[in-house]
Amino acid sequence: MTRRSPSTRAAELRALLQQASHDYYVLDRPALSDAEYDRAFRELQAIEAEHPELRTADSPTMRVGAEPSSALAKHAHLVPMISLGNAFDEGELDAWEERITRLVGDDARRAGYVAELKIDGAAVSLTYAHGVLVVGATRGNGTVGEDVTANLRTLRDIPLRLRGDDVPALLEIRGEVYMPYAAFERLNEARVRDGEPVYANPRNTAAGALRQLDPSITARRPLRFFGYTVAVPGGAPLPFATQWELLDTLARWGVPVAPARRRCASLAEVHEWARDVEHRLRAELDFAIDGGVVKVDSLRLQDELGVVGGREPRWAIARKFAPDIAETTLERIEVNVGRTGALNPFAVLTPVEIGGTTVQLATLHNFDLIRAKDLREGDVVQVKRAGDVIPQVIGPVPERRDPANPPRPTEAPTHCPSCGTAVERDEEEVALYCPNVACPARQLEALVHFASRGAMDIRGLSYARIEQMIAAALVHDVSDIYDPARISVDTLTRLERFATKSAENLVAAIEASKGQPLSRLLFGLGIRHVGQTAAQLLARHFGDMDALQRASADDILAIRGIGEGIALAVVAYFQDPTAQQLVARLAERGLTMSEPRAVSAGKAFEGLTFVVTGTLPTLSRSQATELIESQGGRVTSGVSRATSFVVVGEEAGSKLDKATALGITILSEAELIERAEGLGIRD
Ligand code: NAD
Repeated sequence: MTRRSPSTRAAELRALLQQASHDYYVLDRPALSDAEYDRAFRELQAIEAEHPELRTADSPTMRVGAEPSSALAKHAHLVPMISLGNAFDEGELDAWEERITRLVGDDARRAGYVAELKIDGAAVSLTYAHGVLVVGATRGNGTVGEDVTANLRTLRDIPLRLRGDDVPALLEIRGEVYMPYAAFERLNEARVRDGEPVYANPRNTAAGALRQLDPSITARRPLRFFGYTVAVPGGAPLPFATQWELLDTLARWGVPVAPARRRCASLAEVHEWARDVEHRLRAELDFAIDGGVVKVDSLRLQDELGVVGGREPRWAIARKFAPDIAETTLERIEVNVGRTGALNPFAVLTPVEIGGTTVQLATLHNFDLIRAKDLREGDVVQVKRAGDVIPQVIGPVPERRDPANPPRPTEAPTHCPSCGTAVERDEEEVALYCPNVACPARQLEALVHFASRGAMDIRGLSYARIEQMIAAALVHDVSDIYDPARISVDTLTRLERFATKSAENLVAAIEASKGQPLSRLLFGLGIRHVGQTAAQLLARHFGDMDALQRASADDILAIRGIGEGIALAVVAYFQDPTAQQLVARLAERGLTMSEPRAVSAGKAFEGLTFVVTGTLPTLSRSQATELIESQGGRVTSGVSRATSFVVVGEEAGSKLDKATALGITILSEAELIERAEGLGIRD
């Protein structure tokens, strides 16, 4: 690949990797992507394997992490904290098994493996003396880390005292401190509101928060912890003989253990687990992983296999996944005007493959975020596909800008790109709005939403057709589609590409939609904050449109599951004369303005057991219990295999982890209410 001599290239790579490690571990501000770092690391490993004389003692391939920062006190680990070798595909994992088989024969195969999630956080070690947390430290260079005890004590996940009578007198628990995605996003939203630059990713944010000099800053960061191994000073006895039992013991002592671990009898099972994690589970997790870790289950064999070069154990290997982050060029920033008038910027990217799909568009959320990230048209950007959700632009790679000719900073639009009206800024929210209710882009989105499957479900009223109708000035708002003077077989067939048959079908579908219940109409109207569940709750509670229109915010707030934001938005909507006229026109044109009574009366939870954990958005713990019990269900405090559902709110802790590990169905408050009210079953 390169024409330079191996020794020049090795020196170059060493310098690059050393700088990158410093940026990553000490400054918590990586300049390279992990994939780029891994590529350079492998290239250096390959050169050193071919030319062992080029290997230097300070080569990054011989070292773990980076030197601890001088600002914090040092802590010497009982037993070194090491790194892991990598397998980037199934073949490399097979080769690893062959290597260990050569060393210990078939014993490793017979003992089986444990597959665990590889949490992408910051490695820490917790020292417990007689079961009490005495020191918490970062990994540092593997031998000496930074003493961050006061910071680690602020994590509610970390037990200050271990439970159980079999805890060794002196013990280090190793694990990973991480920040859940949801918490990371909330943190960034708050930073945007405060005009501060946003953080790049949860991993470096967690590592940075951990290494603060002031523990009260760490305490304000939503950090979590998973344990995965223990270390004891030379040969002290341990109450388990396998990795699998070790993890169970950690959980028993009160240490959170990551979900989805699997004991595998063969490597074929490990492959199957890894495929499932990479292609399915990863998207569902609320925290970042960068692969799996495969470990020989027997601790005796682990000892026998030992460590290579002071850096990597032979008995474990990281099975790295294809990064779900890729780099590409941000070609243009375009703006879509939503049905509420919000200006939603999105990125048009040079197509790039991420985790098996081609990504060309990504959300940019709002212009404050664009400014905070300093994203510019023409930048090389990092793009992330978080599971099945819409791809997101993480941020630019400013080093890739041509210093002589950098792209121009992005300006937020001052006028609506659709109708040219001057934009306004919502006081509480960060979005810019087009205030013109007659804005064609807003009308289009409002109609598309109204006709959508979850709302009035009007077959044949597609995006393209609505665009055509608006362009021909046939419709302006949703009531116009029910006006026979505007929409009829006759007017439709005058539009391009409209055959008589499809016009007849569309007119029939519009007519049929008049019978949709109030809940769908309410959702279809696109009242702010009123999603499908809230619309159903409102319709059930008030029964008809008149009663809802007369309701005060307090009347609405009395409904279980409806919060203040929704109540105020509903009242504000019905006070607006334009909305009042629209609803009146819809009623005149024969739309259903009421909700049919529920047929099933209440024992939806007969025979089911629930655990409620975390802070729910609206219900108190006792209200949730009351609701479950009113439907014949039972509420218990501990999660076990007998638990039917776990209802989770914010800051849900180990119960959520246990439920995930046991594969128990998790419900949000809204889902609980839906099920309680028999709303879960839709057509
Ligand atoms: P690593 O992160 O690849 O693997 C070792 C670590 O995995 C362990 O120390 C442990 O903390 C962690 N881990 C998570 N879950 C685990 C589990 N269940 N069992 C055991 N260990 C588990 O190795 P590393 O030495 O920490 O860092 C190297 C990696 O860091 C590189 O491959 C790269 O991805 C990244 N890095 C990136 C840059 C950059 O500039 N972007 C720089 C340095 C390092």
